Amino acid sequence: MSTNRILLGKVIIAGQLECLTGLHVGASKDNMEIGAIDSPVVRDPITREPYIPGSSLKGKFRALLEKALGINDRRDIGTKNNPVKVHVCDDDNKAFNCNLCRIFGSTGKDGGKNFPARLIIRDLKLTTDSREKLSDIDTGLQYTEWKFENAIDRVTSAANPRQIERVPKGAEFEFELIYNVEESSHIEDDLKNIKLAIELLKLDALGGHGSRGYGKVDIKLNPISAITIEHLKYGTAEKKVDCPSFDDVSNITALFKGGKQQG
Ligand SMILES: [Zn+2]
Repeated sequence: MSTNRILLGKVIIAGQLECLTGLHVGASKDNMEIGAIDSPVVRDPITREPYIPGSSLKGKFRALLEKALGINDRRDIGTKNNPVKVHVCDDDNKAFNCNLCRIFGSTGKDGGKNFPARLIIRDLKLTTDSREKLSDIDTGLQYTEWKFENAIDRVTSAANPRQIERVPKGAEFEFELIYNVEESSHIEDDLKNIKLAIELLKLDALGGHGSRGYGKVDIKLNPISAITIEHLKYGTAEKKVDCPSFDDVSNITALFKGGKQQG
């Protein structure tokens, strides 16, 4: 059944992500100039603005939800020297029935088919307001600050000082998730799990150095909208709804059930 996927519509979950503490989503140092900060943040190569890659947010959501849902069968996707164990279903039929893989996708194993993710997570760009505020920041860096961290060797007392670049507290990013509706009976559970991932993130940390206070975020959501594929094709007005919040998604489940409420 999952090999024959059809698109019933889209659910748009958008809002703003605010940094309540400094945020460090790290970039590779490979293309940094000598003398630059030790641990830079990832930036758009054209505008030079810091952003949060959708892949970073997806990895965090997936890891938090895997633990919260108590999913314990994990596959090693790392290398010999760096084993990385995560849950990934072995084929598309298993993924279709898996609360985690059908949201975030899975790659098949031993001939099993891949299951592309239902959830699309956009890269998070600074809001217009934050871009303006941060453009005048007086730190010597563009849009960011740096924080000095010092690790002391417990035996020799030698210091290992380094500077870590952060997006400052108060910065806001545009947040957007698109959930592809493919199976109406899954909508309620999938949205419940996406909501759980967002709530868990607020109580965890995004990016690096979370155990030292970095990466505390708040996410404020706009009303959630749902659009049927018929609306996208023919523009019929009644095929689109807004849901004030995640707490009641009955509008959305009803939309994809031809007006009939579940249960
Ligand atoms: Zn799975």
